[in-house]
Amino acid sequence: MAAVRLVILGRQGSGKGTQAARLVGAYGPVHISTGDMLRTAVKSGTPLGLQAKALMDSGDLVGDGLINSIVSERLAASDVEVQGFLLDGYPRTPDQATALEGFLAEAGTPLDTALNLEVPVDEVTARMVARGRADDTEEAIRRRLDLYESETAPLLAWFDERGLLDVVDGLGAEEAVFDRLSSVIDSRLGVGDAR
Ligand code: AMP
Repeated sequence: MAAVRLVILGRQGSGKGTQAARLVGAYGPVHISTGDMLRTAVKSGTPLGLQAKALMDSGDLVGDGLINSIVSERLAASDVEVQGFLLDGYPRTPDQATALEGFLAEAGTPLDTALNLEVPVDEVTARMVARGRADDTEEAIRRRLDLYESETAPLLAWFDERGLLDVVDGLGAEEAVFDRLSSVIDSRLGVGDAR
């Protein structure tokens, strides 16, 4: 199977994590979730974890420089070269998007697509309150959604300008959403093309 290189965007609570896991199963990329990497670092009490914990607890973003260096290191690993990647939770700011563009240009491995899982704010808020994760206080949820609108939503235009954005409706059954994602990926990869 050819390596696929994907970004998945979507508000917190959009089902991004669930769909990312399914995409990994179906297309085989390495799942790179910056949130998971940071949570692991916090749990094991590494210097990175200590630095990130307070910011994560309040729903703020960890600094671009720190995140960019974690991601560039992970992207350089040999499994990523063979399997490709699915970036989940990154890029989150214009600075991160620019950094990613640089990493990929340097490696000569262009992105196949950025998938935006579209779920309205009211719906994601209800879902996040229901899932009750430790860092999901009402205030942190609000802060993350605000930051999504101000920092991350502008990235949709950024990817779109580069011809790399696919917007997918994230409402409905998990299976139906997955089918929508698969069909846009397949069409990006030229699967089923009569070439
Ligand atoms: P997530 O699981 O993706 O919602 O990430 C949880 C928390 O980790 C976020 O609220 C941020 O504090 C931090 N984080 C994860 N990814 C990034 C990123 N790309 N840039 C900055 N902070 C991040």
